[in-house]
Amino acid sequence: MSEIRHNWTKEEILTIYNKPLMELLYEAASIHRLHHDPNTVQVSTLLSIKTGGCPEDCGYCPQAARYHTNVEGNDLMSVQQVKAQALRAKSSGSSRVCMGAAWRNVKDGEEFDQVLEMVRTINKLDMEVCCTLGMITENQAKRLAEAGLYAYNHNLDSSEDYYKEVISTRGFEDRLQTIDNVRKTNVTVCSGGIIGMGEAIEDRAGMLVALSTLNPQPESVPINALVAVEGTPLEDQKPISIWEMVRMVATTRIVIPETQVRLSAGRTEMSREGQALCFFAGANSIFAGDKLLTTPNPDVNEDMEMFKLLGLNPQKPFIKKMQPQTVEAANSQYQALGEKPKWSRPEHKIERNEVAKVKAKAVK
Ligand code: SF4
Repeated sequence: MSEIRHNWTKEEILTIYNKPLMELLYEAASIHRLHHDPNTVQVSTLLSIKTGGCPEDCGYCPQAARYHTNVEGNDLMSVQQVKAQALRAKSSGSSRVCMGAAWRNVKDGEEFDQVLEMVRTINKLDMEVCCTLGMITENQAKRLAEAGLYAYNHNLDSSEDYYKEVISTRGFEDRLQTIDNVRKTNVTVCSGGIIGMGEAIEDRAGMLVALSTLNPQPESVPINALVAVEGTPLEDQKPISIWEMVRMVATTRIVIPETQVRLSAGRTEMSREGQALCFFAGANSIFAGDKLLTTPNPDVNEDMEMFKLLGLNPQKPFIKKMQPQTVEAANSQYQALGEKPKWSRPEHKIERNEVAKVKAKAVK
């Protein structure tokens, strides 16, 4: 159960998603403890470094130029502005900064050079730096890697089938190609999706098939709940229930056990109890700051109060792995389940921390 598998089928994932809730939670929490410290949650900050005016037609996105939303467009931020915001994020507990630009794809030139400089600058602050800039070529991925990029985000959004219902200006294959380009470097992959866009549960499972069968699996999987914004084609979608979010988080944790599961858009609609269930089910990252690109997000002080209430600690940068005693705790849970835990790691070429080695040794 704890092995990294790259051959999940849609039927298997649906069976997991539809399990009785208590069983699903127990299994997800057990796997979570085997691979992660359950009391540590990474706080990340998402900065919109270039907002609005995007030529794409993603049906959920208020930044698409063709939709009439209240989003005000902004040119690319300066390196100094980004540095100031990153420092502020760091002082309020963030260990990762994700910079988002509303571009279809990256174009070589002055603006990309400026983004590379932002990456170098944040890197010097000892924070994980991630970018989400649209499609990139292999060469652009290499340049980002050379600048010290830690992660590149490119979401699959939904299943291959449902993707076509939401976006027409580029295909699912294009998305996979960008992920593949990133994989040719030592930059880690962040890729997830959105639930609540009108997709069937089969599509949620389909998206998890696409993500879990990547080899290596993504190091980070954001799970977003749609924030239906007026003026977008998905403006009338009803909010998903917390139970759907909990099931999606738990299923992601089970099929992609090593990844950082990120509770992303839609947190303002979730109670603390709901978020606590998501953390129990294996979510181990939140985005901080009052805005998530352009949509509302809980205030950072409220999040810190929630952390205190739940006894959670913000994760330090570059260390996502668990402590050995957590392995032991997890092993006893597996024994209670009648299963023999077996440690395994993805054959990933990047090993940026020492804690993983301590953990592997402890399990032997
Ligand atoms: S999600 Fe990204 S690519 Fe799609 S419209 Fe919005 S900014 Fe453009």
